[in-house]
Amino acid sequence: MGAPNEADSLFREAAGYLRPEDVHVLESAYRFSAEAHEGQFRKTGEPYVSHPVEVAKILTAWHLDSQALTAALLHDVMEDTEVTKAQLSERFGRMVAELVDGVSKLDRIEFESQEQAQAENFRKMVLAMTRDVRVILIKLADRLHNMRTLEAMAAPKRARIARETLDIYAPIANRLGLNALYQELQELSFKHLFPNRYRVLQKALQAARGNRREVVDRILNAIRDRLAEELIEAQVQGREKNLFSIYRKMEDKSLTFSQVFDIFGFRVITRDVAGCYLALGALHGLYKPIPGKFKDYIAIPKANGYQSLHTTLFGPFGMPIEVQIRTADMHRIAEAGVASHWLYKQSDSDLTDLQRKTHLWLQSLLEMQTRSGSSVEFLEHLKVDLFPDEVYVFTPKGRILSLSQGSTCVDFAYAVHTDIGNRCVAARINGELVPLRSELRNGDRVEIITTAHAKPNPAWLNYVVTAKARSSIRHFLKTMQYEESAQLGERLLQQAVSAIGGKDVVIDEAQWERYARDHGNRPRLEVLADIGLGKLLAIVVARQLLRLGEQEGGSNRLPGTVVIRGSEGMALQFAKCCHPIPGDPIIGYVKKGQGLVVHTHDCPVARKMRGDPDKWLDVEWSPDTRKLFAVNIRMVVSNQRGVLAKLAAEIAEAGSNIDNVSLEPGDSSAYSNIHFTLQVNNRLHLAHLMRGLRRIPEVIRITRLKG
Ligand code: MN
Repeated sequence: MGAPNEADSLFREAAGYLRPEDVHVLESAYRFSAEAHEGQFRKTGEPYVSHPVEVAKILTAWHLDSQALTAALLHDVMEDTEVTKAQLSERFGRMVAELVDGVSKLDRIEFESQEQAQAENFRKMVLAMTRDVRVILIKLADRLHNMRTLEAMAAPKRARIARETLDIYAPIANRLGLNALYQELQELSFKHLFPNRYRVLQKALQAARGNRREVVDRILNAIRDRLAEELIEAQVQGREKNLFSIYRKMEDKSLTFSQVFDIFGFRVITRDVAGCYLALGALHGLYKPIPGKFKDYIAIPKANGYQSLHTTLFGPFGMPIEVQIRTADMHRIAEAGVASHWLYKQSDSDLTDLQRKTHLWLQSLLEMQTRSGSSVEFLEHLKVDLFPDEVYVFTPKGRILSLSQGSTCVDFAYAVHTDIGNRCVAARINGELVPLRSELRNGDRVEIITTAHAKPNPAWLNYVVTAKARSSIRHFLKTMQYEESAQLGERLLQQAVSAIGGKDVVIDEAQWERYARDHGNRPRLEVLADIGLGKLLAIVVARQLLRLGEQEGGSNRLPGTVVIRGSEGMALQFAKCCHPIPGDPIIGYVKKGQGLVVHTHDCPVARKMRGDPDKWLDVEWSPDTRKLFAVNIRMVVSNQRGVLAKLAAEIAEAGSNIDNVSLEPGDSSAYSNIHFTLQVNNRLHLAHLMRGLRRIPEVIRITRLKG
């Protein structure tokens, strides 16, 4: 059984430059693809597999390697059939699977916006997503074949695909220096986007071609003769300009078709660079050059590596003649761009060699640009495109945001809006629920879930990377701490006032105003926040408000007691050394800039700081603390299978949560030390929990850790 014709011609093309064993791989990839796409048809009515075959055929024109051709034959199987990446990897190797996966990822991103700036971002996203240039080459060939067969699509879809091709893929082809492809994509896009204008212009061009044929031949002969006279070896070609470039010129300069003269261009291809400049001199002697139109892209190549001399001459009957002069090498690069490096590679080169060549090409491009010193923008683009330090992602509405590499969902939320960032609680990436700390990848569609009362978490600062997110979180936390400190300050002040002035004394407006006058008109809220933060002592402010002198009090030691509810927020902290819980005797320490820190009475850390009595104040638990408090437990357990699970079950049973657990080997291999940080309501709850744990036979010893 022979393969159908279309694939035969592909194998023949490939056999022209690939080894027989590589062609065999292509044959098997073709069969695999045909089987996978079995029963699927293109809009044109052909079996689906004809499409990947055509795509691969386009790539043979660039002499792409067998991996790329194999991937081209398989490029739609992951998207359109049940075949998985793992299957491809097993059957055709990891590299081919990576290439197919890369193309499939590009297929999944959809460009919706019409904005120019968004198109630029989208192009960057496409380039950033593909570390291997071959993925883009396959994608471009795929797009080219789809454009060539666009006729079969419904009109609205045709217009959308044509617009996308014009905005995204044609410019990428241009940036990679794939000139022939760039022109064809533009031409086809123009045809489908503006069918009427295309038809009218095509007719006008046909008519003009007839009228001007004679003139063009005359010019062609004149150029050939002149070059021969001056003994310059060169080929001379006449070429018709493409419709889209004529159309663009008409649009840009508001010209009618009859005003656009240079619908023909000429090209001179010389043996070497010296020949280019000699030919230029000869042509300027033949026809007068139009001033200001000469460009030397040999000395200063374009960003994509394009090199040529461009000049425009006054031809017969005042017709402007555009001429490009270049060497055969330059011509090759002008037509095939980055692909020319596959076109002329050595037969024994393997993948690493290919990569090295691509790298060298980029390197040489970079050097060319640096030497000419012309294009800072080029360097900027090269950096973004090919050594990406940015990541491009979609909002749910299809807008593209560019963020720093390493950005997380929180960075994204703040990039959308500060309010979204401040209220975010979870995120979806490509429809899947993920933790907020998840890192974003190119092409991700990100959705942030918010709730009205959510607040930024200080822990976010550990993983956000954008300046916007960082400063917004800091700002919010500062403001929140300020408000909470002011509330605590107010309670501390009232308690101090009651202690020295009497139980029912309340500070009135007049007293506050007098205080403000005496203290540089500081806002009341600021004074209260400073008390809460420990920058001002409540007892001192109370005395000043009540106009009591220092002499009456003697010590600044605060009398009275502050009641702790546990819901004070950031203005009040529970010491990490002793982890006080309701029921423990406690003591408060006013730490400058941090507010009140609560320790247990017997905390060794607190004991060391006792030397500074002014900073200490009595605190006691409110009878209705509703929060859960962290407490540290150490257990010695015998090493039995499943002991940790038993402990965890008992802890859950007792209504407690595990915050943290760590294990360390005990003195002998028979025992382990386990550290738990658990959450409990109060001492009673803890006692109940410890009783339960002691009943487990493997538990040898259990202690609460303080300090
Ligand atoms: Mn395709």
